[in-house]
Amino acid sequence: MTHRSPSSPRHLLRLSAALLITVCIPFRLPHAACADEAHHGSGANAHVAAERPTPARPTPPSWRAGVARAVITPPKLMWMSGYASRNRPAEGKLHDLWAKALVLEDGTRRYVLVTLDLVGIGRELSDRIRRQLERTHGLKRSQITLATSHTHTGPVVGRNLATMYFLDAEQKRRVAEYADFLTTRIVRAVGQAFADLAPATLHYGENHAAFAVNRRNNREADVPRLREAGQLRGPVDHSVPVLAVRRPDGSLKAIVFGYACHATVLSFYKWSGDWPGFAQLEIEHRHPGATALFVAGCGADQNPLPRRKVEYAERYGREMADAVDRALSGDLRRLTPALRFAYEEIPLAFDRLPTEAELQRDTTSDNRYIAARARALLQELRKHGRLAPAYPYPVQVVRVGELCMVVLGGEVVVDYALRLKRELAPRTAWIVAYANDVPAYIPSLRVLKEGGYEGETSMIYYGRPSRWSPNVEEHIIRTVHRLVHATD
Ligand SMILES: [Zn+2]
Repeated sequence: MTHRSPSSPRHLLRLSAALLITVCIPFRLPHAACADEAHHGSGANAHVAAERPTPARPTPPSWRAGVARAVITPPKLMWMSGYASRNRPAEGKLHDLWAKALVLEDGTRRYVLVTLDLVGIGRELSDRIRRQLERTHGLKRSQITLATSHTHTGPVVGRNLATMYFLDAEQKRRVAEYADFLTTRIVRAVGQAFADLAPATLHYGENHAAFAVNRRNNREADVPRLREAGQLRGPVDHSVPVLAVRRPDGSLKAIVFGYACHATVLSFYKWSGDWPGFAQLEIEHRHPGATALFVAGCGADQNPLPRRKVEYAERYGREMADAVDRALSGDLRRLTPALRFAYEEIPLAFDRLPTEAELQRDTTSDNRYIAARARALLQELRKHGRLAPAYPYPVQVVRVGELCMVVLGGEVVVDYALRLKRELAPRTAWIVAYANDVPAYIPSLRVLKEGGYEGETSMIYYGRPSRWSPNVEEHIIRTVHRLVHATD
């Protein structure tokens, strides 16, 4: 877009100082602190122990797990998210959208994973939901993950991607109502998952599926021919990580699975979870009594190809279920009951910020998205006297026994997953994206330099003032390493 220039180191310094105080410290949770704060009932146990002269034989620690679900299909037909080109609200549903909650407990500490069949979630709404969960269940932010599937046939979610839509008063009202509805449903589902806590075993396995194609390196129309010839280009992450939660009788209670690919097979006017929705339905059909939860990986530059027909979404759903089944019947690693967490919001710097004159000029742009962004940024400038030089970007690390889950916000390109898995070895790393806050695309330095949609122009639709600074990749990767070391 119009704001390309090297970043200013002065910006970075000012910003780090400001955000360290306002953002990082309250949310920075070394795992030891979390363990203390999440520990319940030690006083009661001490009292019981005092009455007994001989201490009971210590029982080995064990997992407990609880699951629950809630329909989050909008009760009213409202505007859909994901594509700027839509010109009317949804007209029906293909299948329901779901919020699913999994609570894990290692004996003392608890972790809440919520998966959502939604395009994303913005900071404002995510904070509201997480604050409610923290208050209700005595949790810290590091103990909660809200993970979205990035389906492009879901509703507009709060202020997420606000620059992309031009809504009338009635649609704005429906978006606000939906945010309230979503909050209520998620909080209730998490409460039900807590009530469902019961002994469990956890196993981790991995397999692969090949329908994700690097969309920056292959023309969509050429994909069938290139695939046939084995000539698809560009980095991909075809791994399918699987976390299996079993009841003491061996039956499956929950199956968490991931894949790095956009949920963009469908672009029509009916609610659906796209291929991740079909994958969850298929896995639950094959494993009655189990809840399937999907978490998106670093698939920001990956598309499911070919696409645009319901039969493709169904087919990729089956391919994903096949991969999950292969993982479940393969070598699974039993996970030791031990949870550790870390969460931090880092001041991720933008490139050169636009001046007021540049924004004024942009308000008259022929491109209505550039004009809408300029109007929003001018409002911010007038309200705060300046534009924020950085965004508080969430990085979370959740250790589930021997499994090291790295949970990133935003639409993260595949380079991050490949690099982090390599650099975090020999740990077993699972890289999750589109979680906790989806404020923009997150390009690697390579993609940032190449430019294009993921590197630059997508920032318009997210309402961000410029592309990210060239420091974006190193800042995130350094933070991940620090949080992983803190939880080792
Ligand atoms: Zn996307």
